[in-house]
Amino acid sequence: MKTDPDVRYGRVLWQGQSHYALLPRDGAARLLDAAPWAGGSPTGAELPSNALTSGDARLLCPVQPSKIIGIGRNYKKHAEELKNELPEEPLMFFKPPSSLVDPGGTVELPPESTRVDYEGELVVVIGQRCRRISVADAAHASFGFSIACDVTARDLQTKDKQWTRAKGFDTFCPLGPYVVPLPDPRGLDLQLLQNGELRQDGNTRDMLFDVPKLIAYASNSMTLLPGDVILTGTPEGVGPLARGDRVTIRIEGLGELSFGVTTPA
Ligand code: ZN
Repeated sequence: MKTDPDVRYGRVLWQGQSHYALLPRDGAARLLDAAPWAGGSPTGAELPSNALTSGDARLLCPVQPSKIIGIGRNYKKHAEELKNELPEEPLMFFKPPSSLVDPGGTVELPPESTRVDYEGELVVVIGQRCRRISVADAAHASFGFSIACDVTARDLQTKDKQWTRAKGFDTFCPLGPYVVPLPDPRGLDLQLLQNGELRQDGNTRDMLFDVPKLIAYASNSMTLLPGDVILTGTPEGVGPLARGDRVTIRIEGLGELSFGVTTPA
C-alpha cells in the first residue's frame, strides 16, 4: 500500500466496531479492511467528516502488536539523570499488550507503587517480518512511527531488578494517536508537557542506538511481526505522575498524544 507521508493511519471505533483507517490531515477518515502493515486497502466506506470531532467516532490505540519492546537508557542524559551507566548494547524489555491505552485515555496509578514516572518516547511500528536482519535492511523494515508514554513504576523497577512488573501494569502504555510513515525518524523534536509545564525537551538524534540498529538487534533474538512496536527510549527530564495530571507528548510530524492520570476508585 502507498505510504504517503501526508497520510496518517489509525484505528477508529465507529458504530460499535473497530476499524483500521486512513486519516488524511484534511478530509474524512477512510476505513481499511485490515491493518495497513498487513496490506489493508480502503473498503470504500468513509466516516462523516465531523464524526471524530463530534464524538460519534473516537480514536483507538493505532496498533494491536504481538509484542511491545522497550529500550532502556537509549539517551545519554537520561541514563545520567538516573545515575545509570550507558549500555554497550541496546537494553531490551517487554511491556505487555494489555498495558496499551487509547489516545486520550487514562493511566491508573497502582497501589503497589509510590513513584510512577512518565517517559515520552518515539515508537517504531514494524512493517515486515524481521528475523536476523542487517542494519541496512532494518532501515526499510519500519512501516511508520508513533508516540508513546513508557509509564514506569520507578520504585518497583529498582526493587524487583527485573522490569516486568514496573513497566507492565495495565494502562502503562498510552500510544498513538496515529502511525505516520515518515521517511526518516532522525532529528525529530520530542516534548512532554505535564499540566502545561514543559518537562522533557529532546530530539531523536540523541539516541545512543538509532532505529535501524534497534530493529536489527531485536530481530536477532526474536522474530518481529508487522505491527509490532519498539519504544525507543526517553530523553532526560523524567518525573513522577500524580492523580489528576494531564500529560501531552508531541513529536514533530507525528502529532500529539494526551492522557489523564487517576488512582483506582
Ligand atoms: Zn522508557
